[in-house]
Amino acid sequence: MAFDLGKIKRNWTLFLDRDGVINYENPGTYVRNWEEFKFYPGAPENIAFFNTRFQRVLLATNQRGITRGVMTLQDLEHIHEQMLSSVEQKGGRIDKIYFCLDMDADSPCRKPNPGMALQAALDFPEIDLTRSVMVGNNISDMEFGRNAGMVTVFLRTTSPEMAFPHESVDAHYRDLNEFAQALQKS
Ligand SMILES: [Mg+2]
Repeated sequence: MAFDLGKIKRNWTLFLDRDGVINYENPGTYVRNWEEFKFYPGAPENIAFFNTRFQRVLLATNQRGITRGVMTLQDLEHIHEQMLSSVEQKGGRIDKIYFCLDMDADSPCRKPNPGMALQAALDFPEIDLTRSVMVGNNISDMEFGRNAGMVTVFLRTTSPEMAFPHESVDAHYRDLNEFAQALQKS
């Protein structure tokens, strides 16, 4: 049975993956610059709505393209500045962006390892990871959520054929819009 979104209270925290969740993936490569960054329709507005339902909205994203030399840290920071400003223009707020540059699967910050969630819990003492939701489009996002003790929400954006139930997934939706609508109704 799917997780009951009605359990989510105002003191919960929302963790969002980036690519495939709030913006389109760039097929075959990374989102290397702001020109290549395309929000899914309604994503900034969805984030503004999430701010009314969660105490914190955070981003947790693996970005090994920098370590692979495909882009620079400056490129990533520029994308994030522009992204935050676009979200703000729609009345939304992302409290902090966590990104992991490491390529090594053993790196504590690289999803599915829970380092970015543990760091967020240190940065924001009010965060309780057992009252947090992780939204992502890959199973590594779901395992990251599991490893940190969170509720996991899978978006089928880039894997419409995914079979459910899945042991790492508590609920699944077509995209961020559908998740936001379900939350609104809960
Ligand atoms: Mg993703």
